[in-house]
Amino acid sequence: MIEKKQTPKRIVLIWAIIIICDCLTVPCHAWQAQQNDPSAPSSSCKNPLDCIDEDENASDGDLSPEEAKIIDATEKLRGLSAENKFAPIYQTEDELRQYLIEQLKDSDDEDLKNELALYYILGFTPKDFDLRQFYVDMYTEQITGFYDQKTNQMHLIENESSYDNALTLAHEYTHFLQYNNPNFAQTLKHEDDYCINNPENCLVIDALIEGDATLTETLLNPQTILGNRQSSVKKSGNVLYSAPKFFQDTLLFPYKYGFDFVSYHYLKGGFAAVNDLFMKPPESIEQIMHPEKYLSDAPSDVSVDSFRSLIVENGFDIKRETVLNESDIKLILGSGYKEEWQLSERQTEIAAAGWGGGSYIYAEKDGKQLFFSKVLWDNIQDAEEAETIFELYSNKRFREQTADKVWAGENGEVIYLIRQDNILYWMILPENIDRSAVIDMIQENRN
Ligand SMILES: [Zn+2]
Repeated sequence: MIEKKQTPKRIVLIWAIIIICDCLTVPCHAWQAQQNDPSAPSSSCKNPLDCIDEDENASDGDLSPEEAKIIDATEKLRGLSAENKFAPIYQTEDELRQYLIEQLKDSDDEDLKNELALYYILGFTPKDFDLRQFYVDMYTEQITGFYDQKTNQMHLIENESSYDNALTLAHEYTHFLQYNNPNFAQTLKHEDDYCINNPENCLVIDALIEGDATLTETLLNPQTILGNRQSSVKKSGNVLYSAPKFFQDTLLFPYKYGFDFVSYHYLKGGFAAVNDLFMKPPESIEQIMHPEKYLSDAPSDVSVDSFRSLIVENGFDIKRETVLNESDIKLILGSGYKEEWQLSERQTEIAAAGWGGGSYIYAEKDGKQLFFSKVLWDNIQDAEEAETIFELYSNKRFREQTADKVWAGENGEVIYLIRQDNILYWMILPENIDRSAVIDMIQENRN
C-alpha cells in the first residue's frame, strides 16, 4: 500500500507526472510488499478538505488506545514529538475515488495531453493511453492514507485489518512529525510553484521523507505493539502492476531508493543522522541513488540555452525544460512500454552510472513533438558506456540506423545520438525543425 499526498498540478514523479499527488507517500512497506503484495501509495492532499466532504462516515476525534500506542511508539523510536493535535480521519475507498475524480477535473485536458505526449515520445506509454482514467483507478487502488501538511490532518482509508491500519498510521504519523518539526521547515517547504520549476529538488525531498517514514514503519513493527497480527491485503495492485512499467518504477522510486538512502545514514548515525539529512538535503537524485555520494558529488548545471533559443526560433512551444537525472536515464533505457525495448537492470545501471548533470527540453509545434537531452558524465569512459547503451536501446526501439547513430522514427522524426568527449546528446527531432542547425550547433560547440 502506498500513500500519497495530494495536490492539483504538481510535478510528482520522475517525469513530472502532473497532478494528483503532491507527493506520494507509500505507507512505508509499499515497496517491500511489492513482491508478495503490491500495495501502493497513499497521498497527502494540499487541500483535501476542499475536496472530500466530511460526512458521517468520516470521523475525527479522540484516538483509540491502539492508535495512541502506535503514535507513542513512533515518537519514541523517531525521537521527535509534535505539539499540534493529531486526529486521523477515516474514509472509505469510494470517498477516495470521488475525491480523485474531483481532483482530476481540475487538471485540464491540455495538461494531460502534454504529459501523455511526453510519455509517448519517450516510449513509456502507447499513444492512446487513457491517463485520466488510469490515475483515478490506480490511486484509488493504491492509496491507503494521506497526510495533509497544510491542515495537519491525516486521512486513512479504512482497512479491515488493524495491523495494516497500524502500519499506515505509523507511516503517516512520521510525516506528521516531519512537517511539525520547525527545524525541517525550510527543507519541506516545497510548494507547487516551486516544484514545477525545481522538480529535481522536490523529487529528492520526496525520497527523503518517504525513506524516513518507510524506515520508521519498518522498525516499529506494529505486531509487537498491538500484540497481534491480522494480515489482510485488501488491495490487489492489479491496476498498477498491469500498467506500463514506467508507472511502477516512478511510483515506487521514493520508497525504494528513499528507504535505501535513509537506511544507509541511519546505520551510520541513527535518527540523529537522519535528522541531519533534513537540515542538509541531498543535491540530486544521483545522491539518493548512491548514498555514499551524499554532499560529495555535486551535480553540474548543464546549459541548454543556445538550443532552447534555436528551438523557439523554429516556432516550437517549450512544454518542459528541467533536469534529466540519473533515474530518468534508467527509465528511458529500461521502462519502455514494449518489453522488447527494455534493457536489463544491469545495462541501465551501467549507462546511468557516472552521471554528472543533465538537462532536457520537450517542445511541440503543430502536433509534432521534440525531445532534446544533454548529459554530462564524470569522465569520457562513463560517457562512452552510456553512448554504447543508448545505441543499443535505439537499435531496439527504432528502425535500422540510417547513418552512424542516426535512426528514423515511425512518424517522420529522426533520432540522433552524439557524443562529444564526456557530453552525450540524445535527441528526437521532428521534420519541422531545422535539424542541421541543431547538429551544427552541437558540432561547433555553440552551447
Ligand atoms: Zn509516506
